[in-house]
Amino acid sequence: MSTDSSISTNLATLLSDMAATARQAGRNEADVRLVAVSKTHPAADILEAARAGQVLFGESRVQEALPKAASLPPVLEWHFIGHLQANKVRKALPHFALFHSVDNLNLARDIARIAAETEQKARVLIEVNISGEVTKYGFSPTALEDSIDSLLGLPQLEIAGLMTMAPYSENPELARPTFAALREFRDRLEARGGIVLPELSMGMSGDFRQAIHEGATLVRVGTAIFGSRPPPIA
Ligand SMILES: *Cc1c(COP(=O)(O)O)cnc(C)c1O
Repeated sequence: MSTDSSISTNLATLLSDMAATARQAGRNEADVRLVAVSKTHPAADILEAARAGQVLFGESRVQEALPKAASLPPVLEWHFIGHLQANKVRKALPHFALFHSVDNLNLARDIARIAAETEQKARVLIEVNISGEVTKYGFSPTALEDSIDSLLGLPQLEIAGLMTMAPYSENPELARPTFAALREFRDRLEARGGIVLPELSMGMSGDFRQAIHEGATLVRVGTAIFGSRPPPIA
C-alpha cells in the first residue's frame, strides 16, 4: 500500500529506532539484524527496500517467494518465516538461508532427509510456542526438551537458535514476558551442554523494541516498512 518513496523512509526510521533501542538495552546494534518481511508485497516494493540498502527479506509462502526472488537481484538473502509444509521442503531448501520456523519433529526430519538426499545443509531455528496459545505453531518448551536430542541427531540441520511469536496485543509491553521467557528457555537448553543457540528471532512491527531489550538477534518487521497487508484469504 506504500508508495516507493515511503518504503525507504520507513526503513531508515526503523533502522535508527532499532539501533537506538539496542544501545539503550546496552547491546551492540550490529547484533540485531532486520528481516524485512515482504510477504504479500510486490517485487517492486522489495526492490525499493533493496535500493535503500536492505539485503535480508522474510517470506512465509514458498510459492509466493520463489518467483519474486527470481525476479530480484541475486545478492538478496531470503529467510523463510512461515509454517513450512512437508511437500514444499524440496523446493524451498536451496532458496532460503535460514528457516525460522521448524515447528515440529516430523518437519525437522523431512528437512534433514531431503537435505541429505540433495547434499545440502539447512540452517534453521526452532519455533517455540512460549505463550501456550493453542492457535500457534511450535514446540512447547517441554516438547522441545524431549525432542532436542533427536533434533541434534540430524546432522544436516544447523540449529542456530530459537524463534517465537508473542500473543497479539495493542500493548507491546505485554509481549515482553514471552520474549524474556524465550531467552531464559534458550539459556536453560544451553546449560544442559552440547548445544549453542545464539540466534533469537522475535519481535515484529508492534513489539520489536521489547524484543531487542529481551535479547532478539533477528527482528521480523513487515508493516512498519511496507505498509499494511491485505487481510488473509480464509
Ligand atoms: C507477517 C509476519 C511478521 C511481520 O509482521 P508485521 O506485524 O507486519 O511486522 C513477522 N513474523 C512472522 C512469522 C510473520 O508471519
